[in-house]
Amino acid sequence: MKIAILGAGACGLMVGAYLSDKSFTNYVIFEKNKLPGRKILASGNGRCNISNLNLSNNFYHNADYFNYDRNALKDYLAENNLKTVSDDEGRIYPFSNSSQTILNFLLEKQKGKIFYDSLIKEVKYDGKKYNINGMIFDALVFATGSIANIDEKKQVGVYDYLKTINLPITDIYPSLVGFKIENPFKELNGIRVPVLASLYDYNSNLIHQENGEMIFKIDGISGIVIMNMSFYYNHLVKKENSYLKLKLYPTLTKKELDELLSKPEKLSYTINPKLWDFMKKFSDKNIKEFLLDLKLKIKGTYGFSDAQVISGGINVENLNPNFSVKGFNKLYAGGELLDVDGACGGYNLTFAFNSGIKIAQELLGEKNV
Ligand SMILES: Cc1cc2nc3c(=O)[nH]c(=O)nc-3n(C[C@H](O)[C@H](O)[C@H](O)COP(=O)(O)OP(=O)(O)OC[C@H]3O[C@@H](n4cnc5c(N)ncnc54)[C@H](O)[C@@H]3O)c2cc1C
Repeated sequence: MKIAILGAGACGLMVGAYLSDKSFTNYVIFEKNKLPGRKILASGNGRCNISNLNLSNNFYHNADYFNYDRNALKDYLAENNLKTVSDDEGRIYPFSNSSQTILNFLLEKQKGKIFYDSLIKEVKYDGKKYNINGMIFDALVFATGSIANIDEKKQVGVYDYLKTINLPITDIYPSLVGFKIENPFKELNGIRVPVLASLYDYNSNLIHQENGEMIFKIDGISGIVIMNMSFYYNHLVKKENSYLKLKLYPTLTKKELDELLSKPEKLSYTINPKLWDFMKKFSDKNIKEFLLDLKLKIKGTYGFSDAQVISGGINVENLNPNFSVKGFNKLYAGGELLDVDGACGGYNLTFAFNSGIKIAQELLGEKNV
């Protein structure tokens, strides 16, 4: 059997690594870039937040459709003596604190070939085998990720090869990205504040609430806590009239704020000076409202090129729960290319790696899960 893998990212490299572990070397990875694993390297600010201690389906859209071992990545890293460490929020990182460790680990395992600078635009299928750039393969794995975090010009045509075998994708949206808001606070551009952020739907139902740090931007807001809101926002049935409520400095109680307002110079030393400059001419009532109960109308998210991932992709109903594509012979798809996405915290890499392990097991005929 000869296998083609499209994409030398998290999912594709994991398929190759697992096949190589089992001494299967007759595979070729086609990678459009000159180098592999660009997003692995970028992940977690170069630290690679590879997974999370809590891998519940609640942090995913559609992951529950698939039948795979949620602990496969964790076990695989442990079996290979790749030491990890977790933070207070359950986020797992390589012990080295460097994404390069993860990429090196995956690359050192590859016993098949990797062709770089090889953008695949067309896949020919004769009902049994696959023809890619004139090479014939018995099995094929799509692991091409998404258009998130790619320059706008380079986003064009990324999904074209799917059209050549009539594999549809859903509507797609930027995810894990900041929001553009109505009436933004230009003066506050660049300042970071602790926040309790809440997302409400058009009917004022609370959808998600989270503590963290946010950053004001010229036309909106961002920061991990806000980016996480975009995951929940994307999966709202109706996005119009949904809104955010922010409680800045959430550990500051109403009573404490009243006391600080009685001597405003105290407040000026308690909150960010730029924020104080902006608010100092407000009435006490407006200061309280701004700090404790700031309602922001969402205009939309920043675009795909700013996003960490996308919501949407190959419709999961076109796949079987083992990641094989319905109606094709030995065709599999995994990772971010699917209409599966997760919140911030290591969920997206975990899914890409776990789906890669499951696909490799299926290709090898292993019955692990
Ligand atoms: C800045 C940033 C930070 C992130 N941080 C985290 C984090 O800390 N934790 C986390 O869990 N997730 C994080 N993510 C998301 C995570 O990196 C992705 O979800 C994950 O890499 C998806 O894996 P994948 O294999 O599906 O796709 P990718 O890793 O994107 O790999 C796809 C590969 O396919 C190649 N390709 C695409 N089309 C073709 C084609 N037609 N022909 C040949 N090759 C092609 C691409 O060049 C790419 O190398 C982050 C993403 C970004 C952008």
